[in-house]
Amino acid sequence: MVGVLALQGDFREHKEALRRLGIEAKEVRKREHLEGLKALIVPGGESTTIGKLAREYSIEEEVRRRVGEGSLALFGTCAGAIWLAKEIVGYPEQPRLGVLEAWVERNAFGRQVESFEEDLEVRGLGPFHGVFIRAPAFRKLGEGVEVLAELNGLPVLVRQGKILASAFHPELTQDPRLHRYFLELAGL
Ligand code: GLN
Repeated sequence: MVGVLALQGDFREHKEALRRLGIEAKEVRKREHLEGLKALIVPGGESTTIGKLAREYSIEEEVRRRVGEGSLALFGTCAGAIWLAKEIVGYPEQPRLGVLEAWVERNAFGRQVESFEEDLEVRGLGPFHGVFIRAPAFRKLGEGVEVLAELNGLPVLVRQGKILASAFHPELTQDPRLHRYFLELAGL
């Protein structure tokens, strides 16, 4: 079973992307909703809000435990990716899960650049259309973190075991390949 963290952000778009693959995802709003999940998608939105709510509802703690025991795969997009990271540059107090061995920089492509689209080359998948909205980038990656795509020399898609994180929004395209790739990572 796949869940989508539905506290804030574009979780509906992720559900829709999964529906296109014939999968009905479960909305995760409380700790108990994590029961039985093999995979969880954390959407884009506002990482401070997602982080605050996930902490308040003890979802953060429970996700960390399940990832630690290896039973849960994660896919974070944009704000979701920020939430996964170990360090958020300049925001040491921002609540986060901290399981992805990476420093993430919020608004890495310039605060004034609200959004842009760029064709990326994704390792193993080929060309992929990247939709970037106040996008972060990954820096200082841990040894176990593999870079799957870069933009302007900055990593924008990374993988660490069963954790996938993208600075862009695959859920805002009609292209199902990254969601499918994630489900395969999760063993689904
Ligand atoms: N800049 C936002 C943040 O820091 C993320 C933007 C997004 O998810 N599209 O939370």
